[in-house]
Amino acid sequence: MRGVLRAIVQKYNGERRQLLAMLRDVQVTYRCVPDEAITLLAEEVDVPRIQVEGTATFYHFLSHEHRGNVTVYLNTSVGAEMAGGAEVAAAFEHEVGTPFGTTSADRAIGLYTTSCIGMSDQEPAALINDIPFTRLTPARVRAIVAGIRAATPLPEMLGPLGDGRNASPAINAEVCNNIRHPGPVFFAPYTQGVALARALESSSLDIIESVKQSGLRGRGGAGFSTGQKWASCRATDGESRYVICNADEGEPGTFKDRVILTECAELMFEGMVIAGYAVEARRGLLYLRGEYAYLVPHLEQVLQDMRAKHLLGRRILGTPFSFDIGLRVGAGAYICGEESALIESAEGKRGTPRNRPPFPTVSGYRHRPTIVNNCETFGCAARIAEHGWEWFRQHGTAGSAGVKLLSVSGDCERPGVYEVPWGTSVREVLALCGAGETMAVQVGGPSRAYVPPDRFDRRLCYEDLDTGGAVTVIGAHRDLLAIVENHMQFFANESCGFCVPCRAGNTILLHAIQKIRAGLGTTADLAAIQQLGAMVKATSRCGLGQTSPNPLLSTIEHFRDVYLARVRADVDYVSAFDLEAATAPSLVVTGSAPLAGRG
Ligand code: SF4
Repeated sequence: MRGVLRAIVQKYNGERRQLLAMLRDVQVTYRCVPDEAITLLAEEVDVPRIQVEGTATFYHFLSHEHRGNVTVYLNTSVGAEMAGGAEVAAAFEHEVGTPFGTTSADRAIGLYTTSCIGMSDQEPAALINDIPFTRLTPARVRAIVAGIRAATPLPEMLGPLGDGRNASPAINAEVCNNIRHPGPVFFAPYTQGVALARALESSSLDIIESVKQSGLRGRGGAGFSTGQKWASCRATDGESRYVICNADEGEPGTFKDRVILTECAELMFEGMVIAGYAVEARRGLLYLRGEYAYLVPHLEQVLQDMRAKHLLGRRILGTPFSFDIGLRVGAGAYICGEESALIESAEGKRGTPRNRPPFPTVSGYRHRPTIVNNCETFGCAARIAEHGWEWFRQHGTAGSAGVKLLSVSGDCERPGVYEVPWGTSVREVLALCGAGETMAVQVGGPSRAYVPPDRFDRRLCYEDLDTGGAVTVIGAHRDLLAIVENHMQFFANESCGFCVPCRAGNTILLHAIQKIRAGLGTTADLAAIQQLGAMVKATSRCGLGQTSPNPLLSTIEHFRDVYLARVRADVDYVSAFDLEAATAPSLVVTGSAPLAGRG
């Protein structure tokens, strides 16, 4: 094993910060991360064993147990459940002969579930050895499992390839873009290099001023001024600065970055180079969620092509400015979408959020000044450099300039990506996507709001209903509480475990919704949920815990009747334990009187 490990370490030049990449390779090689590999990696990279073990045990796609020569990660998000995920899961279990969470006895196939894999517009979907298989049916599952058993290469079992670059040799995926509503930023005509050339004609301070004037706010959800973030980074002394693109969209129901990475990678990277010029950085990183690992060859090809065109690398477009971009690939951890957790992960560690302040613009990657923006923000920045801040301001509202990419899924005729101006109402989105009778719209992923019909005129913008972009349409026929339980299960799974309110609180809240769904809830439980949810939000350390009770709190507020129909108001407590039934057999044996008959 040492020889294999040594080769893996050498592939990454022995860099400690590449520890996660090394562990991913170990997982691929051995289908698990064995104890011995952890020990050897620690020796070869010269880090404490506990650090390697800490990283190896943090991520969903790394496992101490053997996960099968072929590993199936079936998505269990709401979108998958709505599209028939339960039947597909049953088909996998039947065909493989082992339940989810286990590997077949011959170690040929492992069946595991995972949170949203960014395919909510084409569910049910699974990653099989990192390759996305979409629109699964029980019949297709039977064919895939038979193919695996017959040693058919996985790419040969793909269905028709998707549209656009999904069908290119570098991607070769059956994923579809589903671009339903193009807009002026991402899906308008694009000439590579124009934005960058214009930016390099200006001073770096002018670039920052232009981004400030544009009103661009971070598209990840927090909505912080991008220009201010860049200004803060540039103003911080440091021997080097970094630009990181957060391509770790993990909010269930979101998939717009998948389409940007597939079709607009050049625009996004151009935005990163412009950001590098603005803050005087020389190095950028794209942190790609592990679920999108199938895009790595394509992204590397785009970067290489940019270098060949002098849009990246040394002396960009003949100027003194040099900047290059590398890739980091995650391994399945929603919390790594939080910028400080992402930085920790990019450094090869557990994706645990850092205490803030200091903020990353002061002390980020390698404790150097760092800006972290997401794919969409960098794409917008490139267009601002190309067309000017006044052009950008023409779109959207006074407080929310520009456009927003929406990932629309659920009960509608046209799930997919919509580029709309900020200020578009929920009702307008429903009309665009062909929604029928709708009970609720979940805007911004589980951590945000469930919007009831009487509020469908609310507008998507920072002044009203801010969102990172996920829009899930919930039809009138759905069991809303099943959706809430799915979302609470997600947060209980994804809590990094650092702080008690989030780690324990989300599990207690999950049990509470399960209790209500089992018919054992009371109105007192609703009050308890609201009290505990408020406490979890107020005392958790990072954004995950500060928003995770929202599925329950938002639905109890806006859909109270749904809960009242499922809980009892006449008692405070409904016992699930039948003492008489449990003791009856022993009473028969001992010849004792039934409990009810005793005085
Ligand atoms: Fe981790 Fe949750 Fe605490 Fe955030 S709030 S640090 S995810 S335990």
